[in-house]
Parts: sequence; C-alpha cells; structure tokens
Amino acid sequence: MQQGGYNQGGGGYAPQQGYAQQQGQYQQPQQQQPQQQQYQQQQQYQQQQPQQQQYDQQQQYAQQQQYGQQQQQQPQGQYDQGYGQQQAQQQQQQQYAQQQQQAVAYDFAGEEERNGVRFSFNTFPSNKLDAERAVVPVAALYTPLKRIEGMPVLEYEPIRCKNSNCMAVLSPWSTTDMRSKLWSCPFCMTRNPFPPHYAENITEVNLPAELIPQYTTVEYELPNRNAGPPVFVFVLDVAVSETELESLKDSILQSMSILPENALVGLITFGSVVHVHELNFAEASRSYVFRGNKDISADRIHALLGLPVNRQPQGATQGAGGFPPGAERFLQPVSEALVTLDAILSDLTRDPWPTGQNQRPQRCTGVAVSVAVGMLEKLWNRRGARIMLFIGGPATMGPGAVAKLDLKDTMRSHADLSKGRADLFEQAKKHYDALTQRCVINCHVVDLFGCCYDQVGLLEMKTCVDKTGGLVVLADSFGQSVFKESFRRVFTRHPSDEKTTEQDRGHLRMGFAGTLECITSREYKVRGAIGSCSSLKKKSPSVSETEVGEGGTYAWRLCGLDPQSTIALYFEVQGSEQQQQQQQQQAMHGPRRRYTQFITSYQHANGRFRMRVTTVGGLVQSDPNVTSIGPSFDQEAAAVLMARAAVYRVNDEDLTDVLRWLDRSLIRLCARFAEYRKDDPSSFRLPSEFTIFPQFLFFLRRSPFLQISNNSPDESAYYRMTLTRNNTSDSLVMIQPALLSYSFSGPPVPVLLDASSIKPDVILLLDTFFTVVVFHGETIVSWRDAGYHNKPEYANFKSLLQAPKEDAQAVMEDRFPLPRYIPADQHKSQARFLVARVNPPENSDSSSQQRIFTDDVSLQVFMQHLIKLSVESS
Ligand SMILES: [Zn+2]
Repeated sequence: MQQGGYNQGGGGYAPQQGYAQQQGQYQQPQQQQPQQQQYQQQQQYQQQQPQQQQYDQQQQYAQQQQYGQQQQQQPQGQYDQGYGQQQAQQQQQQQYAQQQQQAVAYDFAGEEERNGVRFSFNTFPSNKLDAERAVVPVAALYTPLKRIEGMPVLEYEPIRCKNSNCMAVLSPWSTTDMRSKLWSCPFCMTRNPFPPHYAENITEVNLPAELIPQYTTVEYELPNRNAGPPVFVFVLDVAVSETELESLKDSILQSMSILPENALVGLITFGSVVHVHELNFAEASRSYVFRGNKDISADRIHALLGLPVNRQPQGATQGAGGFPPGAERFLQPVSEALVTLDAILSDLTRDPWPTGQNQRPQRCTGVAVSVAVGMLEKLWNRRGARIMLFIGGPATMGPGAVAKLDLKDTMRSHADLSKGRADLFEQAKKHYDALTQRCVINCHVVDLFGCCYDQVGLLEMKTCVDKTGGLVVLADSFGQSVFKESFRRVFTRHPSDEKTTEQDRGHLRMGFAGTLECITSREYKVRGAIGSCSSLKKKSPSVSETEVGEGGTYAWRLCGLDPQSTIALYFEVQGSEQQQQQQQQQAMHGPRRRYTQFITSYQHANGRFRMRVTTVGGLVQSDPNVTSIGPSFDQEAAAVLMARAAVYRVNDEDLTDVLRWLDRSLIRLCARFAEYRKDDPSSFRLPSEFTIFPQFLFFLRRSPFLQISNNSPDESAYYRMTLTRNNTSDSLVMIQPALLSYSFSGPPVPVLLDASSIKPDVILLLDTFFTVVVFHGETIVSWRDAGYHNKPEYANFKSLLQAPKEDAQAVMEDRFPLPRYIPADQHKSQARFLVARVNPPENSDSSSQQRIFTDDVSLQVFMQHLIKLSVESS
C-alpha cells in the first residue's frame, strides 16, 4: 500500500527513492533562475570556507575562520588569491556532495518546495523542559499560497475528521483500512468511515489524490459557490502638488488596463474633505462630500450616500456574486467604469483649500479611511476587497491626524515616542486600530502607498495594513519608479504556461478573505502567529495558554494574501520528562511522530472558494539528550523566526532589552549545541547545522529592523512590516544582504559582507532587498571616467561595467516592492549605502568582559566574545 510504505520509511521526510525523484523535479525551477542560485551559492560559499588552522574538521566553520584568523594572519593579497575562483568552485563541489549526504536526512529546501513550510527544529523536543533547553523556539514559517509545481486542484469538498474538536482534513498521513473502509485521523486518532462514494471506489491502487503520498499539499476548489469578482477601492490624496497628482492619476489609469475586466472599482478622493465618487454617470460626474474633521459611522455613510435601507441581515441580500441595492453607483466593473473614471480623473484637481504660509496642507486621511471602510462594510461585507490608499503627506486634521498644521511642529521622532512626547500618536493609533478591527471582521484589505519625502504616518496606520495582509510601499514621490512599478506589480497574474494549473492561468496572483487554521498533534500546541494576520480567537485543544504574537487561537484571518505572504507559527511542546519516558515505554511501534496541518480557506481571484491543505509529519526526539535534535536544525528558518520574534517584541519592549534577549539566546544556544571543554575557547566547535546562525544574528542586530538611529519611525515600521510578511529566502537577504564582487580575474564571486571586500579594482553588487547598490572601486571609476570602455581594445572593461548592471536588473525584476537602484562610486556620497551595511573594520574593542555586545563591534570580535561566553556559561 502506497501510504503505508510512506509512513514507515518517511521519518517526516519522503523515503529515499521518493526523495531522489522529487528533488530532481524541484531542482529544475532553480536552474531557470540563475540569480537565485547565485545567492544560494553565496551562503554556501560563506558557510563552507575551510578553517584548517584552528579546526581541522570540515569546511563548515566559515565565519569564525574568516573572522577568527584569516584577516589577522593572512595578508590581503593572499586573501584574494586564496579565495579565487578555482578554490571557490572546489569548495562548492565538496559542499554539494556534503549537502547531498545531509539531504537524505533533512531536506529543508525540498520541504519548502513541496509544502511551503520550514521548521526551526524538524525533530521536535520531546517535552517542555527540553524545548526550553533547545533555546530557539519550535516554530514554522508557512507560505499558504506558495506556487507548488504539480499540486493538484481538486474540484470537490474535502473529507474532514468527524471529531468536532479536530476537523482535520483527510491527508496522506491518515492511516486507512481498505477492508472496513475506515481512516484514522493522525491528530486525534478518531476512526472515520469513508463517505459512500469513496468507499465504493477506493482500493490500495486506486486512491483519491489527497491520499497519494506525494500530495501532502493539495488545493480544493469548492463546488457550487461563487464569491464574485474582487473589489478595489482607490483612495487618493489630492492635498499634494500638481505634479504629484498628475503622476498618481497616471498610475491609477494605467492600472485599469491591467486589472481584470470584471473586477469592481471604486473611487474616493480626500484633502480637507472626503469625496465619494459615483461611477455610473457618463456625462456629469457626481460626488458625495464628507467633512474631514469628524469621524462618521458606517450607518451614517450609508444614509448620506442615499443607499436604500437594508432590512435584512448583512450579506443576506447578496446572492452568489450578487450586488446589494445601490452598490452599482459606487462600484463598477472595470470595463464599464473606464470612461467615467477617465473623465473624473482628468477633471480632478488638487485640493482647493488654501495652505497657509509655513503650514502643511489640510489632510483628513483618518476620515477618508473611515469612509472607505464604512462604505465597503455596507456594500461588500465579508467578500474580497482591497482599500488602496495613496498618501502624499501626513494627516493634519480630524481623527487620525499625525502632524500639526504648523510646519514648526516637527513630526514625532523615535526619541519623542520613547519619551512620551508624541502627543498625537496615541489617539491616531487608536483611531486606525479601531478601523483595523472592522476590516478584519469585514475581510477587507488595506494597502498603503506612501509617497513623500516626509513621513506619512505609517507607524500609526501600521495595523491597518499589517493585520489585514495589506501591502505597503514607501517612496519619495508618485513619479518614482519604486512607487509606479511596485503598484503595477500588485496586479501580477499567474502565467498561462503549462506549469500553472488550468484554474489559475491568467488570474490575479492574490487571494482574498482568507482564514488560516493550524491543527497540531497532541505533542504540542500553537502559541500564536507573527505575520500579516489577525487572531480570530478560536479555541481548540491545539491552542496553548501562553501566547506569542497573535495568539489564543488556532485560526487567523488573512484578509489579503499572495504567493509571498508567509506566516510564522510558534508552538509549545507539551508534557514533562516523566510523561515522555512513559510514552516511550508504551510506544512499541518505533519513534514518536508529530503532525501539523495548515488549512487555508480563501477566495481565489477567479471568484471561486479555495481551500489549500498542507499536512506535514516529522519525528519527536527519542534520545534523552536534547542535543540529538541538532541535526534537524534549519538555521535559515531559525534566523528568520528569531528575527520575527525580535521585531514583534519591539512593539512593547525597549530595543536594548530585545537585543539583550537575542544575545542571551545566542549564547545559550551555542553553549547547548556546540562541543567544547569548559572555559577553553580554543576547543569550541559548532556542528555544521549551526555555523551560519551566529552570523545571521550578528547582521540582524545591525540591521534597520533593530537599529533606529538613521531611520524615521515610519521607515522603521516599513522595514519591520516587510520583514514579517515575506518568505525565508527574501527575509535572509534583508537580514544579511548579499554581496557579489566583479573583477577581471574571473566571473563574479560572492564575497563576505565585510569592509575588506571593498577594493579599488572591483565592482560590487549589494542587495539589501530594499536597495540594490552597484558600487565602483576607485580604479574602476578612473578608467570609466577616462572613457576606456568606449575604446574597442578595452571591450572587456565594457563588459565588466555592464555585467553588474544586468545582474542588478535581474534581481529587481520580480521583487515587491521594487528596490531602489543606487549607482555608487568609492569615496562619493552614495557609497554610504554600501559602507553602512558591511561589517565594520576591526576595532580595538575592550568590552570582552561584557555579556552584551556593543553595536559597532566587528563580526570577528562578536564571534570571539560569543565563543568565550558560551564556553563559560554552562
Ligand atoms: Zn481528528
């Protein structure tokens, strides 16, 4: 029987044969994306540089060698030659072989390709105490709409466990009894009969798709129900300059040509007042005006818009895809609205209310959002809709104001906030938080495009976007490509190629009105989620009492989600050591297993209701020593999970305390999993699964997610929101930017994010996710300025100049938001974008006795302290 074999051989990972097959299958997409591979190589390269002198083990001890010895003892020249192309390739080959060996046991990337999930520890600690000893939380990163090649879309209802406390969906992990036509739920052990039409047909060789071992992730397209088209309400700030308004209008009009024709659009504009525009008038445009200095209830909006009173409960008048009466005046299909919208936008002028000298424009963003939320609450309740906000400056009036009119009153800074001097902050936040709650109930997304050199109040409006799964882009102006191109990319569609399932082809790559449920087996419970989601406060036996992030629930609302949206789920391992021992004695059938099921219900952009079900299984620690789970440690996922937890803590805790918590965690982790003799730093060895982890945390500490000195509160909020919504690989680039070096000595090489990588005769390509910097060393600059690249005999120099630019384009091609492109020359001001992110040159830091690292310490010193403190701390 297929799935029996799967379960026996599985160990949480497909049996060896299946693995080989699947790996082959999943490596293909990587080969087609050279850029991605390049970045993976960098990680490999760094991870694998040999450390023969101090550690005669393998190559895994990259960073310590890098920083422990090499820089001190080896002259620069040797660094260059020693790490030239040939050696790097050799290392990669060795490493590849090594990875192949490891991969049989733990194939983190493969698991992500197949199921969109990565765990910090893939073998779970067996009891509460061991989970604490493991330091890094047992947690998962799950990408509900990840594009999974070959995933079946099943056009029938899922079969669910009859236990109402469980409701898990039938999966390949369920054990089946073909004779009595029963299946047992791996989560609650309930034995369920197959429904008649399954029972009639099912045999060991004729399994339904959801029982076939490789389909641990399937999607159901639920029959007989239709959600109707998605809704987009554009909310435009007109208290901006003429040029800004023109650019914005241009982008909105362009978006009409890429939106699906049946999508419904609405238009609201605001400055000192709010206008709701009617869209079914062909000749004269008509709008309804709302005062900007006072909040307004949804009922009042409903009445003022002249909509008929709806006597039935909400949603009841809306049949499948139906329209509540009056809605067509404000929400029109793109195909119908195009002419009207074009007319309204071409007549639209900037807010006529005069702006006083040395004053900010009157801008009632808070009321505008409230009107949009109230209108959709009445017209399109609990169905997929996006409120897209375009803001060109801070709100200065009404509820939700974040700045005073007078320009003399500067906007709140980090210092103001920490000293309680930001008097508008609390009230504004309260206003937007209340609107957020309504959006979550209504299933509506809020997207925010803030285009201004000043702050727009993103910090105050953060939850509106964050908890509804919205998108956020900060740029300097509506004319900048960071805004224009990012906005265009919101409407990216599924390709129409053969790799895309038929039901997806050509549809928008976004889901609406979603819910994520997480079902766990008895060994552990869900503490909460960190990401673009909101707790639905639903209790079940899977819910832990201790909360992390959005907790107290097994279900979360994801009003908006796309293939990037990634939720971090944190777990609590159950049971004492004694219980564990008893269970182990009872367990005659081999090692204990744990299971997780993620159920994502959402509206597909094609109007259908979908449910994606991912069910994964793995082992529970069987060895009494917790270090036995070390080989299952996914350091990349763990770094991202720690980063999210740290960023979430910043909401309520002092930054210094958060850094301290990270430091302490890292020291405890190393003390637990490294091999060493007590008080002997030279004996310290980290197992290969942990070697890059300290480096990730080093760069995380220095990143804009945890450093605020050069950023405004809006920028800090922006960086943090982007980090907590993206997948593992993008998050890693944000934490530890990728750096490539181009020179005449060979093809581009990944180099360490270190001041020593900056040399006169190289070009560097730095990718921080938010910016892409192409940096020219001074010799390159002088050759370029002398025009050598224009001479035929220096064609190779021309190619050298060209290569990093082309690679930068490739990096920027698919990313959301579009990164800012920064060309920089050594010693010129733009070079600061590179210099600020590299590991600082060695300094004479003497704080080695401190248990906390200073901010400007180099990676080398950081590692020395870490090793010293780790060997002392046990
Ligand atoms: Zn069950």
